[in-house]
Amino acid sequence: MDIEGCLLPEFWIAVARDTGIKDLELTTRDVESYDELMRFRIETLRKHGIRMPDIQRILGGVEPLAGAVEFLRWLRERHPVILLSDSYYELLQPFLSALEHPTIFCHHLEVDGDGYVSDYLLRQTDAKRKSIRAMGDLQFGTIAIGDAFNDVPMLQEADHGILYRPSNKVLDAVTEFPVAWDYEQLQSHVTAAAEA
Ligand SMILES: [Mg+2]
Repeated sequence: MDIEGCLLPEFWIAVARDTGIKDLELTTRDVESYDELMRFRIETLRKHGIRMPDIQRILGGVEPLAGAVEFLRWLRERHPVILLSDSYYELLQPFLSALEHPTIFCHHLEVDGDGYVSDYLLRQTDAKRKSIRAMGDLQFGTIAIGDAFNDVPMLQEADHGILYRPSNKVLDAVTEFPVAWDYEQLQSHVTAAAEA
């Protein structure tokens, strides 16, 4: 299951709102190259004097989406769950306790001696799809849940893909998966997929 947009609000948007730095609201919808976007974010944080402890303090004040904790608990009582995120352990750290310490596969941010984010280190490219493929190699059946374009490869790779609260743009472009609009519907879709 994806994290941002599925269990937690979007991190960069939260930091942009808290700091008032509009440039941090840009996403891959605005800047096509992920590398270019991340370099721009890193540069913007430094320009405004925002260090990793500031980011973690801001994110520490962000709540999981309403019902997310209960949903994740429900899911983990029934299935082995791995959260697959294109975000970073350093940004997820403030949420681990609230989410009850799930298993997370994601990437790392590098922080320099002054506390500024200086680089990002991807575990590997196309990590979500490859993680699902690896689960298949281990003979696990897989159900993937995500909300955005970066989740589509893992939804396609999984035995069952489910879209959770996609944007209109995603909804128009991606038509092959069932869609859930709240956690109750998501529970029904997961139950149906697990029984299929
Ligand atoms: Mg997401």
